[in-house]
Amino acid sequence: MAFESLSERLSQAMKNITGQGKLTEKNMNDMLKEVRMSLLEADVNYGVVKDFVARVKEKALGQEVMESLNPSQMVVKIVRDELQELLGSSDTELTLNPDGLTTVMMAGLQGTGKTTASGKIARYAKQKLKKKVLLVAADVVRPAAIDQLQTLGQQVGVDVFTLGPDVTAVETARQGLDYARENGHDLVIFDTAGRLHVDQALMDELRQMEELIHPDNILLTVDAMTGQDIVNVAKSFDDQLDITGLVVTKMDGDARGGGLLSVRSITSVPVVFVSGGEKMEDLEQFHPDRMADRILG
Ligand code: GDP
Repeated sequence: MAFESLSERLSQAMKNITGQGKLTEKNMNDMLKEVRMSLLEADVNYGVVKDFVARVKEKALGQEVMESLNPSQMVVKIVRDELQELLGSSDTELTLNPDGLTTVMMAGLQGTGKTTASGKIARYAKQKLKKKVLLVAADVVRPAAIDQLQTLGQQVGVDVFTLGPDVTAVETARQGLDYARENGHDLVIFDTAGRLHVDQALMDELRQMEELIHPDNILLTVDAMTGQDIVNVAKSFDDQLDITGLVVTKMDGDARGGGLLSVRSITSVPVVFVSGGEKMEDLEQFHPDRMADRILG
């Protein structure tokens, strides 16, 4: 199927409509149908699409068509503004502790790219924020996670703290925190365990770690490719933990940003980073305005 951008589709929908002046409700409904279809095709959550279209309709109806714009451009502008509002009005940074040690706790289901993101954020904090970073291997559930984190640490040139798979995650976190204080690190990233599904044991462990660390940042990794399910997963984590930001991974497989849009609007937690590949440099700070452009096409 040929890729048709949302703005192209709206122009197309306007082609049959002649005359200037106010958009009629009928014309508007034709255009809103295109908006709805386009978002659903991008795998945006159904409830999110419904609310979104209702808000666009409310704003658009009755508005005078400006001289310099044709009606489709006006709708595109309203859609763009709505998207921007949904995605967040400004960039979100990591929260840095001005008095010393900044802590970042990672959370997320297994396979979402949490360990990979820990390495990428370590690289980012070292290079961009000029921090002395420590990675703490507190995922003692997935057998290869500790080795993986050590390899990533080596690759990006930051220290990795581990007590091996036989010590609990909470104890590892406790000692990792002490180690960072004693060794002059100023930013610590805790890679935590995931599970294949959200379960209470996972949440209990994460909450214990939250109480122990009092993290400045709790970043939830969500996989953009999981479609509609991304919303349920993010909601479960957000209900139980004080999530401060999202890391949306595998954006290389979600060209139209449907997953990101859904999760952002349901949790109202800001997206801090997006990851678009497996390599350590494939991490970007999230810019809502650029994402709005990408969705509009
Ligand atoms: P964890 O279980 O959440 O710690 O997941 P991992 O960090 O081990 O990642 C699971 C798989 O996803 C690995 O094969 C990663 O290389 C891959 N991965 C992670 N992030 C991305 C991404 O942004 N894009 C793609 N295509 N793959 C990714």
